[in-house]
Amino acid sequence: MPTREELEKRLTSEQLHVTQDKGTERPFTGKYVNHKAKGVYACVCCGTELFTSDTKYDSGSGWPSFWLPLAGDRVRTHRDTSLGMIRVEVTCAHCDAHLGHVFEDGPQPSGLRYCINSASLDFRDPAATGAGKPT
Ligand SMILES: [Zn+2]
Repeated sequence: MPTREELEKRLTSEQLHVTQDKGTERPFTGKYVNHKAKGVYACVCCGTELFTSDTKYDSGSGWPSFWLPLAGDRVRTHRDTSLGMIRVEVTCAHCDAHLGHVFEDGPQPSGLRYCINSASLDFRDPAATGAGKPT
């Protein structure tokens, strides 16, 4: 699991703020909001693969939105009552990085909207990495 010191060297100040201090990037500013390529979105801190392009959709919210994580055990959810709202925070199950929030207004079949900061994600192009190809 990466330490705060390692992350401070490797991440941008916005990535550090979002993932470690539960920050939120401004809507429509993240690099993955309108990103449509096929591939996998990993945790920017620890590299755990969290979401895929297959469940990404355009929610119009200004943040990358997914209706399901790659696998249920890749992320954890926590009740968040900050800012006077009751929301459900989503974190990386491996390193506890803050990812975003999940809302119950997503499309079927899940009805969920994982509203995730681009700053928490690292997109991996399967064509570039060889992931998903037979070995
Ligand atoms: Zn992580």
